[in-house]
Amino acid sequence: DSERDRFVGLSPTEVLARVFGFPAFRGLQEQAVDRVMAGEDTLVLMPTGGGKSVCYQVPALCRTGMGLVVSPLIALMDDQVAALRQLGINAAALHSELDGDEASRIRSDLFAGRIDLLYVSPERLLSPGTLDRLSRQTISVIAIDEAHCISAWGHEFRPEYRALQTLPQHFPSVPRIALTATADPRTRDDILTALAMPEARVLSASFHRPNLMISARPKGGEMKQLVQVLDRHRDDASIVYCGSRARTERIAASLREKGYPACAFHAGLAPMEKRAALHRFRSGEPIVMVATIAFGMGIDRPDVRAVVHLDMPASPEAYYQQIGRAGRDGLPADVLLLYGGEDMSRARYWLDQSNAPESEKRVMRSRLEAMIAFTESTSCRTRALLACFAETMREPCGHCDNCLQPVPTFDGTEAARKVLSAVYRTGQRYGMVHVISVLRAKLSDNISRAGHDRLSVWGIGKDHSENFWRSVMRQLIARGALMPGNEHGGLRLNGDVARPILRDEEKVELREDALIAEKGARSGGQ
Ligand code: ADP
Ligand code: ZN
Repeated sequence: DSERDRFVGLSPTEVLARVFGFPAFRGLQEQAVDRVMAGEDTLVLMPTGGGKSVCYQVPALCRTGMGLVVSPLIALMDDQVAALRQLGINAAALHSELDGDEASRIRSDLFAGRIDLLYVSPERLLSPGTLDRLSRQTISVIAIDEAHCISAWGHEFRPEYRALQTLPQHFPSVPRIALTATADPRTRDDILTALAMPEARVLSASFHRPNLMISARPKGGEMKQLVQVLDRHRDDASIVYCGSRARTERIAASLREKGYPACAFHAGLAPMEKRAALHRFRSGEPIVMVATIAFGMGIDRPDVRAVVHLDMPASPEAYYQQIGRAGRDGLPADVLLLYGGEDMSRARYWLDQSNAPESEKRVMRSRLEAMIAFTESTSCRTRALLACFAETMREPCGHCDNCLQPVPTFDGTEAARKVLSAVYRTGQRYGMVHVISVLRAKLSDNISRAGHDRLSVWGIGKDHSENFWRSVMRQLIARGALMPGNEHGGLRLNGDVARPILRDEEKVELREDALIAEKGARSGGQ
């Protein structure tokens, strides 16, 4: 017996206790471990923080041979390896950033059969040299972590993951376990197909994260809204997601001016800057990470107390993944999404313009629409979000904004008709600001040049605030009555939805936050 197989013969529960110090399995862990122990293929869907690692680490030790873990990110591998070594497990990571000494130490350990768990990037695993070396080893289990990376529909697609479908040819009869925190049924089917494991049992945990206090609010002075959340967590870590690199820099700079420990993070940073930012984030000091989606996988600081989105994510899947970085320690965390009509119509416009194949665009479009519907939802947020992943919650969560403070609606038919008429009369090519100026009779050079101050709709909305009209327009965008007309945020009518409203054949119920926004504006802004 090699030192590597020192746990063979112990039960999974014994290994869990002895090596990891956990008295019992949690949730679906035991079922997943049993499947692997029985030599069968499994797909595990568990939210972030659910405890996926144990599902492959325990059987890797209990079964004869070395565990092989495919992982997409070096930082992720290094963290896992460091954690395992502290537990007395001989883990190693094979990737492109190893120095020569380290790589040759791993090779000789490998040769001697001393490695318990080997983490490897997909391209490294399938390189001829590595395959050759590994095929001379007994492999206990192959784990494919972050398995959604194999799906082209996914938001984190890694083309290298595609090649993993050849695994069974290289390692026949080694059980595989794929793991992901992405829950949507389409990605799940994609994983099973791409990994060529149609027989695999799918173990899906609930994606409900009861400690996340989800809320979504229309933008109205975003800096103020942001700071309000950050102030509740001054001694902790927060993440602020922005839609562009430039915006992360801008927001981080103005937060720093206000005395917040803010740090920008995006894919355009130099490697050294990135490492420094990550190091700060991991160090445990208070920090506000202002980031694009490039700040993602492998972010495992457990005490992130707030995740704020200043721009709307492209899909509920991406959104869920991003807010999942909050509260991994199980303690309450604030999650706030700020949204605006411009976001929505711009996202729709760019999607229409994209060169992606039509089938792909259709999927992205339906995800975007689901995201928009989520932001405008007047009922339980948690339930609305889980519904996107085909998970039904019988009771409302009781801790989201809509549960804590039910959103009243009002009859907004007349307001909607005014907006739609104004968009129509101004030629269906202007954005929100222009249309609202026409409604409220606010003269500008553009308006007088276009002669819009002479239209019948000029000033028909004078009795309401700018915020009110913003909210009405946003909700009309969300319900599809207004559509993007050009890349400058111009809006046009969507006849099928707009016509019945204009003809007074259909009532429009609107969220009353339109009125709340107005009250706020009148009393000096919230
Ligand atoms: P995931 O990869 O699903 O995000 P991890 O595997 O990193 O989650 O585990 C999340 C946390 O839960 C870790 O801190 C881990 O130590 C802890 N954990 C996992 N399994 C158990 C268990 N059976 N009992 C107690 N704590 C556990
Ligand atoms: Zn709720």
